[in-house]
Amino acid sequence: MASLNRPRAKIAHVYRGTFMHSTQDTTLEIIEDALLGVDTVGKIAFIGKGSEQDKLSQTFRFSSSNVTQLKQHEFFMPGMVDTHIHAPQYSYTGTAMDLPLLQWLNTYTFPVESRFKDLKFAHRVYTEVVKRTLKNGTTTACYFATIHTDASLLLGKIANDFGQRAFVGKVCMDRNKSDYKETTQECQKETCRFIAELLNKKYPLVKPVVTPRFAPSCTGDLLGQLGAIARKNNLHIQSHISENVDEVKLVKELFPESKSYTDVYHKYNLLTDKTVMAHGCHLTDEELTLFSETGASLSHCPNSNISLCSGLLNVRNVLKHKVKLGLGTDVAGGYSASMLDAVRRTLDTSKVLTIQNPKHQALTFDEVFRLATLGGSQALFLDDQTGNFEVGKDFDALRVNVAPPGGPIDLILCDKPKIQLEKFLNLGDDRNIVEVFVAGRKVVPFMEPAAE
Ligand SMILES: [Zn+2]
Repeated sequence: MASLNRPRAKIAHVYRGTFMHSTQDTTLEIIEDALLGVDTVGKIAFIGKGSEQDKLSQTFRFSSSNVTQLKQHEFFMPGMVDTHIHAPQYSYTGTAMDLPLLQWLNTYTFPVESRFKDLKFAHRVYTEVVKRTLKNGTTTACYFATIHTDASLLLGKIANDFGQRAFVGKVCMDRNKSDYKETTQECQKETCRFIAELLNKKYPLVKPVVTPRFAPSCTGDLLGQLGAIARKNNLHIQSHISENVDEVKLVKELFPESKSYTDVYHKYNLLTDKTVMAHGCHLTDEELTLFSETGASLSHCPNSNISLCSGLLNVRNVLKHKVKLGLGTDVAGGYSASMLDAVRRTLDTSKVLTIQNPKHQALTFDEVFRLATLGGSQALFLDDQTGNFEVGKDFDALRVNVAPPGGPIDLILCDKPKIQLEKFLNLGDDRNIVEVFVAGRKVVPFMEPAAE
């Protein structure tokens, strides 16, 4: 398992204990008494057996006094990837769950998002959402911001300051009943400014993502321009698709020339292998095939789908179509910013589908663990950089203590690693997440952000 033929990078940290992760071939690989080395640029230099410590320390030149030994009931797992979250909506998370999508947007979302032209308000909310998600183990977040370029740039700065890996999208919409929109030309110009200014900051882990809100709030003209911008700059793309049946109907009315909702995005070059679309509850098999052919991925946001009564995504069917899939919180359609909640709601949704149809094979907890980690990194086209503990990837990790004093879990009958992981996923919270690492850097407990 240790990679001995890579160039010898200097080792910054070595950890010894249980590591659990997913690979391409297995949903859950448990490596007990493992030794993992992280180099000075935050990459995993080696992973081997604890019993080989002497040999590894000679090869990679570290001293045994530098090895951090995990305590009893502790393990490392990969950081979780939130593939869909609206940072501004964190301000009203946990409320406003009483309307279906289209009314919900008009009543709650657009008035709140309008407030983000005020940078002071944006600073407050964006700082809280980055801190809250990091504390809960989200090492990578794919954020929607608002239509405001400067506030969206501020979100990028805050994620960078706290050390979170993030995609940030300035939201584009040129079609809306309320004033919360831009003209097509403004959208195009401001998106280009946002991309240029964010890239210019050279944040190592924060990148722009082209973000049409969703087809109903964008003209075909705008969608076409955004597709061209993404292609020209080789950028990621995010949006929403087939969340709720009224929305699907509306898209049919607005884009009568398109064969399907998926076809609308495809036509405007918005379905690529760097595209992540939220929801997809009501996609047909034909549309899923188009996702698979283009390499576009889905973000499954079960809390939101249930909270707004949107629908139940059949993840098993999505995976059968070989479509990449990660999990998302979809704050504030989803009321929890924690990816642990996304894991639980994914399991619940899958079981509801089995109740409705006993032939449906419900997802297992280790399959969902993979979706929350490696699956998310695949959905965001980041799996060469993050998602598990393979040598050469960035060390994005959670140090979990299943039974800290005063924590939410009592370990009584069995403390085998697999049981510990299952208990943590079902019962754990941020009290169990002792430390969070992104690209080798410890980001929880929080670092002090750089002075203004
Ligand atoms: Zn959303």
